[in-house]
Amino acid sequence: MTSYGVVIDTSMLINVMQTDTAEASAFLDGHLLTRLMLMAVVPAIFVWLQPIDYGTMRRQLWKNPFVALCALVIVVAVILSGFQRLASTMRNHKDLRYLLNPLASMYGLARMAMGPLERDESTIVPIALDAGQAGRTNEGNSTPIRPRLLLLVLGETARSANFSLNGYERPTTTALEQQGVVSFTNVWSCGTSTAESLPCMFSHLSRHEFGVRKVNYENLLDVLQRAGLAVLWLDNQSGCKGVCDRVPHVSTGKSVDSDLCKDNECQDGILLSGLDERLAALDPARRARGTVIVMHQMGSHGPAYFRRSPEKFKTFHPECTTSALQVCSRDMVLNAYDNSIVYTDHFLSSAIDWLRHKAPQADGAMLYVSDHGESLGESNLYLHGLPYAIAPDVQKHIPWVTWMSAQFEESLGISLECLGRQRHLRVTHDNYFHSILGLMDVSTSVYETELDAYALCRKRL
Ligand SMILES: [Zn+2]
Repeated sequence: MTSYGVVIDTSMLINVMQTDTAEASAFLDGHLLTRLMLMAVVPAIFVWLQPIDYGTMRRQLWKNPFVALCALVIVVAVILSGFQRLASTMRNHKDLRYLLNPLASMYGLARMAMGPLERDESTIVPIALDAGQAGRTNEGNSTPIRPRLLLLVLGETARSANFSLNGYERPTTTALEQQGVVSFTNVWSCGTSTAESLPCMFSHLSRHEFGVRKVNYENLLDVLQRAGLAVLWLDNQSGCKGVCDRVPHVSTGKSVDSDLCKDNECQDGILLSGLDERLAALDPARRARGTVIVMHQMGSHGPAYFRRSPEKFKTFHPECTTSALQVCSRDMVLNAYDNSIVYTDHFLSSAIDWLRHKAPQADGAMLYVSDHGESLGESNLYLHGLPYAIAPDVQKHIPWVTWMSAQFEESLGISLECLGRQRHLRVTHDNYFHSILGLMDVSTSVYETELDAYALCRKRL
């Protein structure tokens, strides 16, 4: 908490439960060890060495409750004596309640444990049982309909403000700028951590509805699969948080590739290697109707940003080369982070090149959306995962980049020029589910045109 300015609430504890060794070990360094020694081990030894007179059981039986009661009376008296000011301070500084150590963490732990009681986790309620591709069949058509190939890249920890596409003064996304993409500039995430955002993005529910849901529902991938499309999830990170459980999925994080992989982690380029074979292995009948491939990036995952870009993509120097970000200057942290965006830019541009190369077989498109943003030392905050209500905008303001081949644009009946004009309209993760159903022309009663970020620019629906 002191190093990164984070708080340990329910969602942070869920992150702890869902992490893996590679992710967690990035935090275990000498600085943490020193702090633990000074702030926990030394005081613990001191307390341990104090002589304690435990007394007889009979005496303690009335003495302990009496002391506890006295303490409680004093606490209540102190609170009441300054209640007005205390109440208004707590109201005006919501973040304070998350800093009540260890009470806030205990409360978070209890909330997490209660989760299964608040929600029925035993079943997954099916949605969109009527999903199909009503408008896209070969029957009765003289010209056969070409399948679509949609690449959904799930960005990690990318913040909108660091994309030169969105006006950042450093040249971080020059490759994408050459590819003719449309970048939305006013996009907001559902949560401030992967575990929060990912399931929410793929859900048909809004951010608010998702937070208070009483049961779990099927997600976007289930609906795409039900509509008859081929679906594949490729994961280069700590997993899909349950989103890909019922569709074909592959983890690339433990691949053996001397160029891209080191210490049980791979650079995102691994997601593109062997992609032709992976695509060919999917059910041909489904592929003929269309394919959606999801790529879950390692992206700009912190705190070890310097590990997220290979040597030849390091544009900004010097980099912060430790996980203890607070010991580096802000400029060095920013350099390492921006280098990870430069590599993401290269990765996305290579993915677009792959789609271009697939043009003889399918009409390609790519949609890149990040899961949440990041704090890079602004107001002494680092990383992400602050409770949504108190999180700074940089943890929630994310990029949303679209590329479409001319054939995809034509077959969807959309105008990219129009999309470019709409790029400053507000979009959130609530729009994700519906926008993708729209891009694949999946017809279902669950689809809501008003939430489809592309609907405004389609000539026909
Ligand atoms: Zn994330």
